[in-house]
Amino acid sequence: MIEMQDVWKTYPDGTHAVRGITLKVDRNEFVYIVGPSGAGKSTFMKMVYREERPTKGQIFVNGVNLVSLKQRKLPYVRRHIGVIFQDFRLLPKLTIFENIAFAMEVIEAPKRLIKKRTMEVLELVKLKDKAGSLPSQLSGGEQQRIAIARAIVNNPAVIIADEPTGNLDPDTSWGIMKLLEEINFRGTTIMMATHNKEMVNTFRKRVIAIEKGMVVRDELRGEYGYED
Ligand code: ADP
Ligand code: ADP
Repeated sequence: MIEMQDVWKTYPDGTHAVRGITLKVDRNEFVYIVGPSGAGKSTFMKMVYREERPTKGQIFVNGVNLVSLKQRKLPYVRRHIGVIFQDFRLLPKLTIFENIAFAMEVIEAPKRLIKKRTMEVLELVKLKDKAGSLPSQLSGGEQQRIAIARAIVNNPAVIIADEPTGNLDPDTSWGIMKLLEEINFRGTTIMMATHNKEMVNTFRKRVIAIEKGMVVRDELRGEYGYED
């Protein structure tokens, strides 16, 4: 599903953020990405959803070579990769319904399908009654559930989540994790960077630890392994 071969990323200012990562993530895996701040986790994940290109190396997601991919083909790939951020990133002036529908409009899905599928994912995240609200009228946890609904609306093969519970209290974080687990159970590969030690140590999954731009640990049913 995700394959990286000797991937390096040096930013224009000379920062070596990722230094030779090689790994494979299979279909339907749930992977936690852990490591200290500044270790290169975000950069690593940005390359998986093609927000950044590697300086060197190869990346394949769902069989597509992300390094040689032409810019104009990007929307077709983004369709297969859903992304979730710590700060939700909903469009503030659009309703909840419109925020989710927008992700389908971008890929030019038929109008009737957009309505049906948007309501379906709202049902899945249990926020159907908020369809007409604005993001600012929702709590942080609700906004993150909407961001998850938006990420899955096009049935992606992979979800990339960069500290999705970083702004949420422990109970709400738990709910988000349960939701991501359910989505994983339904067949979506999930890669999630997190600093939530308790969560990693409770929901035992594959854990990949990154330090100084390199993979220093990769364990099935691993643990968090840091004290922060
Ligand atoms: P993490 O997500 O583990 O905190 P990042 O991938 O954000 O790590 O950062 C890895 C390193 O790359 C850090 O030294 C950071 O300051 C640097 N970095 C991140 N983004 C950029 C950028 N756009 N330009 C230059 N350096 C960057
Ligand atoms: P197009 O589809 O228009 O041919 P590309 O997707 O090939 O464009 O490239 C888009 C932009 O990214 C271009 O400005 C190109 O120079 C730049 N680019 C291409 N490959 C890399 C790379 N490995 N690292 C950084 N930038 C790149």
